[in-house]
Amino acid sequence: MNNYVILGGGVAGIACGYFLGRESCTIYEKDEDYGGLCGSRKINDFTFDEGLHLSFAKSSEVRDIFDKPSHFTYNPEPYNYYKGLWIKHPIQNNLYKLPTDEKVKCIKSFLERENSKEDYNNYEEWLYTQYGKYIADKFPKLYTKKYWCDDARNLETKWIQNRMYSPSIDEILKGAMSDNTNDVYYVKEMRYPVRGGHKSFLEPMAKNLDIKLDKKVILIDGKHNYVEFYDGSKVYYENLISSIPLPELIKVLKDVPNEIINASKKLIATSMKTVSVGFNRPNVSDKLWFYIYDENILPARAHSPNLKSSNNAPYGCSSMQFEIYESPYKKIDMTDSNLCEHIKKSMVNMKIADNNDILFIDVKDVQYANIVFYKDIYKNREIVHKYLEKVGIHYIGRFGEWDYLWSDQSFLSGMNMAFKLKNIYK
Ligand SMILES: Cc1cc2nc3c(=O)[nH]c(=O)nc-3n(C[C@H](O)[C@H](O)[C@H](O)COP(=O)(O)OP(=O)(O)OC[C@H]3O[C@@H](n4cnc5c(N)ncnc54)[C@H](O)[C@@H]3O)c2cc1C
Repeated sequence: MNNYVILGGGVAGIACGYFLGRESCTIYEKDEDYGGLCGSRKINDFTFDEGLHLSFAKSSEVRDIFDKPSHFTYNPEPYNYYKGLWIKHPIQNNLYKLPTDEKVKCIKSFLERENSKEDYNNYEEWLYTQYGKYIADKFPKLYTKKYWCDDARNLETKWIQNRMYSPSIDEILKGAMSDNTNDVYYVKEMRYPVRGGHKSFLEPMAKNLDIKLDKKVILIDGKHNYVEFYDGSKVYYENLISSIPLPELIKVLKDVPNEIINASKKLIATSMKTVSVGFNRPNVSDKLWFYIYDENILPARAHSPNLKSSNNAPYGCSSMQFEIYESPYKKIDMTDSNLCEHIKKSMVNMKIADNNDILFIDVKDVQYANIVFYKDIYKNREIVHKYLEKVGIHYIGRFGEWDYLWSDQSFLSGMNMAFKLKNIYK
């Protein structure tokens, strides 16, 4: 009998294991490496993460661990790509590069917006209230379709918090007349390991833990307290802690009532295809990351791993990674090789690189990327959580808590669960 069995070797599972202590727990991870979304991998001599990953952890518990590996520190300077223009982020504060006609439409519509609302029925209403119809329709609403894979009017608004900047008229006007604007991005400092990719942040915790890889959970028997894995093995537990996505957890859990299954099916997340590209020349892009608004270019976002750390690409080379999002409601109907061709063409159109620069191009599927905040999310999440509490399964992390958690928040979710369990079972 294993005292604590932890399902999922992402940052939440690993932090939970670290604070419980090696002697009392084992982590079971379906993939051939640990890290989950915080993981990294090598392609030839290049290092890639699972999409843009930099740490902006603030809490001392996370910094005590994440600061251990030597790391670089950055001021974030995100950009936007829109019809051949490179525009500082966020666009609403930085209209300077837009054609005059468009600037006028943006400003007029901002001034005409109805901004007395405090309650919003949906994200579209929130966008119209903050930015006016023209800016909202042109930029964040289009981006919503690419990133959240649905219309803004179908999403709720609690997730927004400080993630979207609401400018004053002075900021809009200044940004329309000058390219010398203040940085208003909601994170001021970001960190990244010098070596080994983003996964290196987890190494101080993972190195002494018992992490079993290639262990996909296929059945959980909550009555007899055991978990079965894809390879036919089985483990009995005293305490079960899960960071695997709630809909997947409910699928493998035995004897779940229909009402709970139905609620879990309504919890929707996007999937992501990362297209990672290695180039045979340095500095293909000078942007750490950027958002893409054009509808005829599939990726929502792209970044340059070699700008996060020069060790992510061999000497004289550089790299980029593009993120393309899908959901059950919006599928990318394209083979991987057609997707690679699309990325190659898009890089030519964006004047980033041409085919002669490319050493390799690789597509990877990430099944769970971002939770989508539909209006019924909280009701369905509560139904599933209450059931898990009833059957004694503890849930942690982005997909256990089913919330918009950054890596440090997922870490804290795992850590707090470890403290809770230790106190309970001391
Ligand atoms: C594209 C992207 C960019 C991001 N960028 C940042 C950033 O810059 N900064 C930041 O702080 N945060 C960022 N985040 C958020 C961050 O990645 C997450 O908060 C964090 O990694 C979630 O960790 P987790 O352990 O909760 O989940 P996961 O990392 O998903 O871990 C869950 C683990 O469970 C495993 N698993 C699933 N099913 C099974 C099964 N049946 N059996 C066994 N194991 C299973 C999975 O393989 C996975 O390893 C980003 C997220 C995305 C999608």
